[in-house]
Amino acid sequence: MKRLISWVNTLLILLFVQITVTSCNDNIPNMPSVTDGYLDFEYTESDDEPILYNTLNGGSEVKYFDGCIYFFNGNSNGRQENHSTLYRLNTKTGNVTTVCPDPLCKHNTPDCPFYAMDSSYYIYKNKVYYTRTYFLDIDVKETGGYGDFVSFDLGDSKLKRYVAYDDSIHDTLFGSELFVDKYRFFYSAIVDTEAKKASPTINRMNLEDGSVDVLKEGNPFDIGSSHSIMGDKFLFTINKRVYFTDETKIYSTDYDMNNRQDILSGMVISSKILTDGEYIYWGESDDPDNVNLQTLYRAKLDGSGEKNPIGIKTANWQLTEKYIYYLNPKETIIGKNGLEQRPGDEIILSNNEIRRAAHDGSSNEAVFSLIQDDINFELYRYICVGNYVYTAYQTYTDSNNDGTIDDSEFYQSIYGEAYTVLRIDVTTGNTYYIHCGTEENMGGENEQQKN
Ligand SMILES: [Zn+2]
Repeated sequence: MKRLISWVNTLLILLFVQITVTSCNDNIPNMPSVTDGYLDFEYTESDDEPILYNTLNGGSEVKYFDGCIYFFNGNSNGRQENHSTLYRLNTKTGNVTTVCPDPLCKHNTPDCPFYAMDSSYYIYKNKVYYTRTYFLDIDVKETGGYGDFVSFDLGDSKLKRYVAYDDSIHDTLFGSELFVDKYRFFYSAIVDTEAKKASPTINRMNLEDGSVDVLKEGNPFDIGSSHSIMGDKFLFTINKRVYFTDETKIYSTDYDMNNRQDILSGMVISSKILTDGEYIYWGESDDPDNVNLQTLYRAKLDGSGEKNPIGIKTANWQLTEKYIYYLNPKETIIGKNGLEQRPGDEIILSNNEIRRAAHDGSSNEAVFSLIQDDINFELYRYICVGNYVYTAYQTYTDSNNDGTIDDSEFYQSIYGEAYTVLRIDVTTGNTYYIHCGTEENMGGENEQQKN
């Protein structure tokens, strides 16, 4: 087991950047603070949704599927005491429930389908896909660990296991994955323990039988050394083709990674690449010293025509069917820095508002200011659905008006014991807080954020 966990961590660090959060205990559905939220809940209809055929990110992000927002309230490292679980908000009713269907379950034994679930998960066609890893040595006589890759059907609550890991090398990694038809594309590594080398791979799992094919193997690297990630990355899939980038080109292949066609070349791509089915969108860096400054471009999906800037500068953007949502990278000084863990004399927030525009860049408008008179927001892991932005966040509030933000005036929504998702109405600017927490912290701590 030692080897399994350490490999997971080693490969995780080498191949992907993953933000982890501290663990958070389970929630009993219908606890008071969740119910309290219903009182102020309002919802306005819009048919705008995230576009589905792009690569899914695995981290513990706010995700959307079929009318519901999903979020994982914590962190899993295979630890028995972990009570984290997956939550679901019905966007229309505001009802928050655990995805685990058992109302009495505390999600802290292997009987729970989400027990020891990793915070990386993916939702595709009514199923949640995730890895579970845990140590056996507390409740079971054998020592060692257990791991598997499973899906949970949101319709009939059936759990399906594709791969079980025993003491062998864990070949599932966190990060982005691509689901299409019966396939799951994911990154992994082939490890040579003798030579202390590993090679990054692109793999394809058949979700009908769990079989895995290695489609591409990258250059081996020394285990423990820093190295560049897999040279080729999958981006999205459309019309039975998978699109990849090798950082300077975008190309497509069939599901076997054969029959390559180059679409675009000569780009210096510095951010994610998405499609709306007609165009490909990407960012190019304006200033190599400032990752926040990028110009967004688009070009036809079939490679015909020119690449065109669309008049948006950001490194932080999302695509819905109707809009490009993005954070304006303008820097704002909000006060003197009194935070223990933060360097610098001043607190400078690098994104000062949420904006949106049509896909061609027209009708560009501000929809929410992150810098407000009494509170300043920093967003991460946000998702835009209909008239709302759902996001994990941090706030800085100079409550005593002394010009300095100290630790008591700083709040992180998904660290510590509470877990709160902010919903911003982009038509009115109204905010609404979705709480999920523990039995212990339901009593009032969550009230620090008022609606
Ligand atoms: Zn459960």
